[in-house]
Amino acid sequence: MKKKTHVNRRGFLRTTLLGAAGSVAATGLVRGNAVLLKKEDLDDKQGFITRKLGKTNIVVPIVSMGVMRADNPGLVKAALDKGIKLLDTAHTYQGGRNEEMLGKLLKDYPRNSYYIATKIKPDGYNKKKGTFTDASKVKTSYMDKFNTSLKRLGLEYVDILYLHAISNREATLYKPILEIMQKLKEEGRTRYLGVSTHSHEPEVIRAAIDSGIYDVVLVAYNFQQSHREDMDKAIEKAVKAGLGVIAMKTMAGGRMNKDKEYPVKAGTALKWALQNPNVTTSIPGFTTFDQLEEDLAVARDVTLSEEEKKELALATRETLYCDGCARCVTQCKKSLPIPDLMRAYMYTYGYRETRKARDLIDELAVTTDACATCDECTVACVKNFAVAGKITDIARLAEVPQEFLT
Ligand code: SF4
Ligand code: SF4
Repeated sequence: MKKKTHVNRRGFLRTTLLGAAGSVAATGLVRGNAVLLKKEDLDDKQGFITRKLGKTNIVVPIVSMGVMRADNPGLVKAALDKGIKLLDTAHTYQGGRNEEMLGKLLKDYPRNSYYIATKIKPDGYNKKKGTFTDASKVKTSYMDKFNTSLKRLGLEYVDILYLHAISNREATLYKPILEIMQKLKEEGRTRYLGVSTHSHEPEVIRAAIDSGIYDVVLVAYNFQQSHREDMDKAIEKAVKAGLGVIAMKTMAGGRMNKDKEYPVKAGTALKWALQNPNVTTSIPGFTTFDQLEEDLAVARDVTLSEEEKKELALATRETLYCDGCARCVTQCKKSLPIPDLMRAYMYTYGYRETRKARDLIDELAVTTDACATCDECTVACVKNFAVAGKITDIARLAEVPQEFLT
């Protein structure tokens, strides 16, 4: 009989990882300070470095706001009042409350004083295969979700509409979705189109270029990625093709690791990503006024100090960031969706967002004993993650009562 493990949130967060250890060797990270800034890149008023988003008419500071975890309208107002221009949300964030919060506060701002991006992932997506299954269901749900998002936001149009959390070429180029997105653009309900991905970024970026439809790619980009060279090449190609590149997960899984330590300081990690002049802007998910100030300081100056260069060169402490390379999936005896489970782990311990992690766990339908029947784990993660321990740890979240989730 299946053994039930009851655990509440406090207990869950208090308990330690089951054997999860391992370090990530990170060498050759420091780029120097070879950032090519033109005089006109500097916004005189705020002193921010600004960049143009591909061929769009959008020019923004290199730091934007990932609103995902912010539930304080005062913080979003402060960000806008201090000069942040682009707000990034999604249909699913905080069960829709994120868009609703923005809808209420944006009423006080002229529509041409900010840019807003939202993301829609339609139903009918097979997460394990990374493909869409039912064209009619996909189209209907994409439209329904988009209509709901616009209503929540209280807007007639968004500036960027993404196809959200896609992980391969096939899904990026899925025709029924592209047709719908193009129609929405023609109708003026979105100004630009984009695709976002948590994994296989170079493949998705190349597909976005080939589509001839997308204007923007939103991709994970940080100092911990093991496929950095491929990423840099794909990003460069995207920029040459006229796409704007927005970086997320620049802090490699949160401002702190599970032990609440800084693997690399948030500002240092953000500077590292923004030193690539092909990255137009970033969407750090700051949740406090201090973090906002910290990130705005980076928007004014991405120069790495000698100490920060050392920090990056010595970044050997494990972070919570999984590359999403999916090499582990074929090694796993049960073909578990390990990259997604590692993301749920990061949401829990890096972002301290247990509700978001739980939603993902529920979607993946992974049981608490998923790894218990294996005598030996056959997965060799490229980042040395002890995946079985992390899976066992995170899967317990499925049994935490909803009221304990944050
Ligand atoms: S767990 Fe490791 S091997 Fe699997 S996707 Fe993440 S980084 Fe790659
Ligand atoms: S222990 Fe878990 S991750 Fe490892 S092979 Fe078995 S099911 Fe897969």
